[in-house]
Amino acid sequence: EKGIDLTIVQDYKLAKDNELRFEVEPNERVKLDLVDGSAEIFGTELVRSRSYIFESGAKIAVFTWFGCSVKLTGKLEACYVSKDTPMVIYLNTHAAVEQLRKTAEQEDIRGPRILVVGAQDVGKSTVCRLLLNYAVRLGRKTTLVDIDVGQGGVAIPGTVGALTVERPADPVDGFDLKVPLVYNFGHTSPNGNIKLYETLISRLADVFNAKCDFNSQIKYSGCIINTCGWIKGQGYQCILHTAQSFEADVVLVLDSERLYNDLKRDLPDFVNVILQPKSPGVVERPRESRRDARDERVKEYFYGPRKIYFPHVFDIKFSDVNIFKIGAPALPDSCLPLGMEQENTQTKLVPVIPGRDLTHHILSLSMAESLEENVVETNVAGFVVVTHVDTDRQVFSVLSPAPRPLPRNYFLIMDIRFIDIH
Ligand code: ADP
Repeated sequence: EKGIDLTIVQDYKLAKDNELRFEVEPNERVKLDLVDGSAEIFGTELVRSRSYIFESGAKIAVFTWFGCSVKLTGKLEACYVSKDTPMVIYLNTHAAVEQLRKTAEQEDIRGPRILVVGAQDVGKSTVCRLLLNYAVRLGRKTTLVDIDVGQGGVAIPGTVGALTVERPADPVDGFDLKVPLVYNFGHTSPNGNIKLYETLISRLADVFNAKCDFNSQIKYSGCIINTCGWIKGQGYQCILHTAQSFEADVVLVLDSERLYNDLKRDLPDFVNVILQPKSPGVVERPRESRRDARDERVKEYFYGPRKIYFPHVFDIKFSDVNIFKIGAPALPDSCLPLGMEQENTQTKLVPVIPGRDLTHHILSLSMAESLEENVVETNVAGFVVVTHVDTDRQVFSVLSPAPRPLPRNYFLIMDIRFIDIH
């Protein structure tokens, strides 16, 4: 209970269908206890035997279907009870989707594939978490596909990935991220490399399809795809590409009527496009706070939640590894060999000569064992961050969650940097 201001205690009694929303102030911690009744956080039921401790910056809603009493201890930025939530609508969505899973099971066909879209900060990730939690509470094994490279839901920012959810998210720490399938993208927005982004989405869809062929429970349970908030121009094209690649059955549009109408027009009739409200509780994050959240996510990758782990620190010899960047600078069309398309360069593997400018960059360790494999479309084992480069000794130092020796030696460099101040 370190860091919690124990002198500030607030009791709340919530009537049915109400939610308590709060935000933890920077550098503070807050403890939540369920005193009576039943309540959930983004679809995970709370238990009375545990105190939930939320860290600085957490934005939480405690919702109750039947009424409850809770106690909050610590300093809060904003805290209020609201009756105005779309939870009944979301629950109905869950029920409809669950019906599709039942049908899939009876007829031995694929379960529902749901694409969640909308602008930034409309609660897309939260709706995904809610639907996944409700599904797993019924024993489903639904797969979360996260292509929001700005936040990196299943790994770190700059990645896309998938995770089959086999138990509810922890109210504090979220889903168990021990075994996700992750691909290196390298940028925090799809427009860092659209061609690569779409290639990786197609790849994820192929891998998910293969998994469905192999495991019928995963096939019937379907998937939920979390997207990023870029919904205009090429961002919109990426949404269409994702719907197509995954053959989405349902597209859940949060809050944007314009996007809803565009998708209804552009997607085939058998796709069920539905418009739903966002929760008034969703907190809009300014640009800096989104960047802080990204940093926080990378830090958590290396140090664990609440810094419960210590990363390893060691040197890697330049000569022991190969570092690549994905995408070569585009050449003027006149310089291209006849018949070669410009966009091929965007998914090309380009060797990087290690030097000082590697410092602070995040490197993804590819699972590829040889360059005969398609390294760009091979999943990654994990990440290191370069903390120092010594060109005299021809080594660079890294922070790594895994000890030496690393299992592979092909690295992909990200555009994303992380400065380790802990
Ligand atoms: P998006 O994925 O659309 O960017 P998120 O789902 O990440 O949006 O939500 C933005 C923030 O709002 C998150 O920090 C989340 O915890 C918070 N949030 C979501 N729903 C609620 C709610 N009902 N009450 C309070 N905070 C919420």
